[in-house]
Amino acid sequence: MQPDTPFSCQPIGRIHSCFREKFGIPRQPGLAPDAQALLELLPPYDRAEALSGLEGFSHVWVIFVFHQALRGQWRPTVRPPRLGGSRRMGVFATRAPFRPNPIGLSVCALEGVEQRAGRPWLRLGGVDLLDGTPVLDVKPYLPYTDALPEARSGYAPAAPAAALSVVFSARAEAACARAEGQHPGLRRLVTQVLAADPRPAWQGEKASRRHFGMRLWDYDVQWTLEDGVVRVTDLLTLATD
Ligand code: SAM
Repeated sequence: MQPDTPFSCQPIGRIHSCFREKFGIPRQPGLAPDAQALLELLPPYDRAEALSGLEGFSHVWVIFVFHQALRGQWRPTVRPPRLGGSRRMGVFATRAPFRPNPIGLSVCALEGVEQRAGRPWLRLGGVDLLDGTPVLDVKPYLPYTDALPEARSGYAPAAPAAALSVVFSARAEAACARAEGQHPGLRRLVTQVLAADPRPAWQGEKASRRHFGMRLWDYDVQWTLEDGVVRVTDLLTLATD
């Protein structure tokens, strides 16, 4: 028997996302519908004809590299946040970033295909992707084969409920209003992300009175959490490079 032909993968594109750090990113796509990203196609794949026909699809599979979860070694079990971070499951029974091949897949809304600086870009919605994520492939989402409403889903039977209510201080409200021109829907995005309680599962109740911050676009979103209510205290504009 002939040995298998060795193969390697090259990114076909790169993600430019509202999520500039891992903390706070939803745990699956669609949980924060206002989370947007652009997928920039890279040479030699940045050819308009490679996307011909894609505009007819509302959603795409994005197959990507967890480039900020690269470890030299893999572990056969991980602790899914869904189980509170206390129970271990087989890595292949989870969607964890740390896996033998660091490959992720997300169904994202395809909000448009546009040309920028002579290259085609895809506008994606509802992403769970970090800024800078290398993309290996894009495929159309096909409901007739990809949507299986009767499927069993083990320890994750339904979408996690948005656990927390979110209120804005007057200062944060004003900052969102100022940002609206550049980032329409920013207030909704902040609400969707924080309502899902982005704290790592293992912090549990110990973290219930702490101050938090996360970076969304070029804003440092600051909030406190008390008695199940997130209070967004400020949105500070960060200096861009
Ligand atoms: N939907 C994908 C999947 O099922 O393969 C990703 C699921 S994974 C649980 C989602 C988490 O991956 C996000 O909350 C974020 O913390 C992390 N993440 C997203 N992009 C990443 C990247 N490029 N490198 C490392 N971690 C990333």
